[in-house]
Amino acid sequence: MSATGTGTGHVVVIGAGIAGLAAAHRLLERGARVTVLEASDRVGGKLLPGEIAGVRVDLGAESMLARRPEAVALAREVGLGERLQPPATASASIWTRGALRPMPKGHVMGVPGTAAALSGVLSDEGLARIERDADLPRTEVGDDVAVGEYVAARLGREVVDRLVEPLLGGVYAGDAYRISMRSAVPQLYQAAQTHDSLTEAVREIQAKAAAGRQTGPVFMGIEGGVGTLPLAVAESVRARGGEILTGAPVTELRRDTEGWRVVTEGRALHADAVIVAVPAPAAAALLRAEAPAAAAELAGVEYASMALITLAYRRADLALPEGSGFLVPPVDGRTIKASTFASRKWGWIAEEDPDVAVLRTSVGRYGETEVLQREDGDLVDVSRHDLREATGLAAAPVATRVTRWTDGLPQYPVGHHARVARVREHVAKLPGLAVCGAQYDGVGIPACIASANAAVDQLAGDLSGVAELTANPVQSLHGGAGE
Ligand SMILES: Cc1cc2nc3c(=O)[nH]c(=O)nc-3n(C[C@H](O)[C@H](O)[C@H](O)COP(=O)(O)OP(=O)(O)OC[C@H]3O[C@@H](n4cnc5c(N)ncnc54)[C@H](O)[C@@H]3O)c2cc1C
Repeated sequence: MSATGTGTGHVVVIGAGIAGLAAAHRLLERGARVTVLEASDRVGGKLLPGEIAGVRVDLGAESMLARRPEAVALAREVGLGERLQPPATASASIWTRGALRPMPKGHVMGVPGTAAALSGVLSDEGLARIERDADLPRTEVGDDVAVGEYVAARLGREVVDRLVEPLLGGVYAGDAYRISMRSAVPQLYQAAQTHDSLTEAVREIQAKAAAGRQTGPVFMGIEGGVGTLPLAVAESVRARGGEILTGAPVTELRRDTEGWRVVTEGRALHADAVIVAVPAPAAAALLRAEAPAAAAELAGVEYASMALITLAYRRADLALPEGSGFLVPPVDGRTIKASTFASRKWGWIAEEDPDVAVLRTSVGRYGETEVLQREDGDLVDVSRHDLREATGLAAAPVATRVTRWTDGLPQYPVGHHARVARVREHVAKLPGLAVCGAQYDGVGIPACIASANAAVDQLAGDLSGVAELTANPVQSLHGGAGE
């Protein structure tokens, strides 16, 4: 294993989360020889299938946006097409102002086209404040602006605090008053450049969406869990001759006369090209020697930590309100930030065991560290307390599971796009080096896969070995291992 693959288009991918695995998958399609090095003892990163009370569940990410193609396409390519499954119900609630209220329809990340769209969720004063948007002079957004700051300036803080914040928090576990509008809700950023009125801009976005309406579900899950996606990708990578080593943390990445030297556990691998698909702090450590400016940028990326509390109940004990679950605005001072009624949301979970129903709650937002210091038992207790307050659920669970995701989600504050552009500019100066993962172009699974695809495309331009092999992938797949 010491100096493998010299001169045959050998690419080392560092990190076997969904981004690294997707990159490996695409590299093999293009005929490269691939080795994936993963620090932990399993592949998948933030995607983790598990089990509670004998029922299979996701213990990490559980849903994939299907309105962009990458995740669903990858699932199909690795043989999971038959197991793709949309949510059984699309309706959700918001636990706000003391009651569970239906999640309004007709908004863009919580920003409504009309005040009426939010009736029931906002106070009368909050609704009246939205109406003022039409009369206010334009709010300049410059190169970027925090979503919360802009929306509050146009429509008042109540929209932000009761709707935008929990919706954005559901994706980024972040703070709406810090999150970049340009990176997180680009449609609103673009609309803000051309419209004085935000509600008018949202109505236009909605009209365009309605005109070009895509059919099919907005989200997809996978029977057995979204966590089975990386397992299937890894299997496909191995079946096509790719090597995946777990328990192989990369500790050093250096250029040498013929390409790259990748050090893991005291061994050195030669690579013609390298894809760094690890979270920002790890990427910063690896790039420090050869791309110090990129490393400095990556070292500045902040993360939010969270925990998921999965609770299994006897189904007979459960009388939940309609829908797939609810979000909780932080302004109400509750501990949980959301709950998913997993057995309602996913048909495959409901079918696992007719006597068991599964819920999950989440705690932890950016900057909220106190709640995550608590013992697992305390997190179960606060979840049960909040669930009881929100839904009346008093029964005791038959099993519980706490999954902690320390530094689970990179934050996208104002200026994130510029930081990412600088990272890419520095990385591009080094031939045969590319980066991908959740900290660049979006935290969602499809965005991570898209960043992996882009990294491979970038390398194909850099690396003549890969470019040549791309021209004849069949030959290279069967004869290009180069050992
Ligand atoms: C709790 C939670 C719920 C989420 N829910 C959803 C959801 O429902 N839908 C959705 O689309 N997205 C969701 N996300 C976001 C999404 O899951 C992640 O953004 C995405 O999976 C990140 O993939 P990645 O490959 O970039 O990074 P990771 O999954 O973090 O993978 C990086 C890998 O690199 C490895 N590594 C680190 N350092 C080294 C090193 N030095 N050498 C070798 N390997 C190393 C790590 O062990 C890890 O396996 C969720 C995230 C969290 C935390």
